[in-house]
Amino acid sequence: MTTTEDTIVALATPSGTGAIGVIRLSGPDAINIAQKVWKGKDLTKQASHTLHFGRIMDGENELDDVVASLFVAPRSYTRENVVEISCHGSNFIIGSIIKLLIKNGARSAKAGEFTLRAFLNGQLDLSQAEAVADLIASNSKASQQVALQQLRGGFSNQLKTLREQLVQFASLIELELDFAEEDVEFANRDQLKKLIFEINRIVTSLISSFELGNAIKNGVNTVIAGRPNAGKSTLLNALLNEERAIVSHIPGTTRDTIEEVLNINGINFRLIDTAGIREATDAIEQIGVQRTMDKINESALLLYVFDASQITLDDLNSDLESLKRPNVAMLVVANKADLLNHEQQLPLPHTETVIFISAKQKENIDELKQKIYYAAVKEQLNGNETLITNIRHLEALQKTEESLSRVLKGIDDITSDFLAMDIKQALHYLGEITGAVTTDDLLENIFSKFCIGK
Ligand code: GDP
Repeated sequence: MTTTEDTIVALATPSGTGAIGVIRLSGPDAINIAQKVWKGKDLTKQASHTLHFGRIMDGENELDDVVASLFVAPRSYTRENVVEISCHGSNFIIGSIIKLLIKNGARSAKAGEFTLRAFLNGQLDLSQAEAVADLIASNSKASQQVALQQLRGGFSNQLKTLREQLVQFASLIELELDFAEEDVEFANRDQLKKLIFEINRIVTSLISSFELGNAIKNGVNTVIAGRPNAGKSTLLNALLNEERAIVSHIPGTTRDTIEEVLNINGINFRLIDTAGIREATDAIEQIGVQRTMDKINESALLLYVFDASQITLDDLNSDLESLKRPNVAMLVVANKADLLNHEQQLPLPHTETVIFISAKQKENIDELKQKIYYAAVKEQLNGNETLITNIRHLEALQKTEESLSRVLKGIDDITSDFLAMDIKQALHYLGEITGAVTTDDLLENIFSKFCIGK
């Protein structure tokens, strides 16, 4: 998979009929191959970054009028010669032109192969290449920004510098091994400790940023739960501003779960409306209740909704007791505030902050949205810190952390050879993130997730 000697071709725009289709050729012979099927100015004699109008010819047979964009190596995405042919977007024309280019020496590109080449030719590091995939898949402002930051070098630059410093220590310690008999110490242990603390601080903060990074990339799973008739479906509709979920006044009608996506300040929240959590009275409802509990366990945020005009303090407390999870943030929402009169004594738990709303009258819904946002995002986004969103990075960072803690433990009492081994391990895992250390399997795994033409 990792050869870059031949010239590859693929459709870069989505397949299907569009106004235009863009066919991308990349490799040493890209311009020559295009020239072979081209009627127009001699493409091999044109400057980089120029556009040319011409015809694609299959022998005497004209296939299409097209525009060719020329990028001469190394000034292209892949750092190879690249020609992008914009043709009319018919599947027949696109297929015929690609076939013709293959007949003239190009090869069909595999998934992600253009970006793989950009990586192999030093245009992008590995985490940047992955950011390209994230950018293409981003579906909210926040996920687009996190991917863009990573594409621009984000945290991999930070790690690269620290890794280089650690490489220096590793070589000093290797040097000590060469002078083993003489009991010398080239690598200052205090400085090494300081560096490791510094790397650890960053690695740990990157690890802890994953939860939020992942939420931004994939959305925050948010469950709406509460007793039947508390107003969960009405609240879901009010949040979405639409009439999506089925609202009814017969308790327990929202038997199954419904999922909708709500975007607040650029972050997607996956809202899951659930069956009521009342004592199950029949088998079907019981399944619904169990499902609610499962959904809560899988979610990051729980909106517990109760009917403020009806509920007793005992019921409220017992609901809160049974719904609380250590890893799930909870917002307590008192609904039907419109039915309360001011003198009414409200049953309120002492332990929770309660937000009063009226789902039906759409009162306080915007305030609730902001509370939802802050409950998920906390203050983490304000510090402009780097976020990781990729599970592969998370795993490499966790392994880096483990090996660094072994280095720290051993620094004062194990011999240089063991210390060198532990440091090498940490270097290895740090390198896996940026691509300083790669294997064909790793590359295959990452790039095969791209689409063809990327
Ligand atoms: P769910 O079973 O928790 O999903 O409850 P629904 O959303 O189906 O609402 C049950 C009933 O309460 C419906 O008749 C709603 O119109 C009513 N309801 C929901 N929210 C409010 C509210 O804020 N104020 C008032 N007065 N009625 C509400």
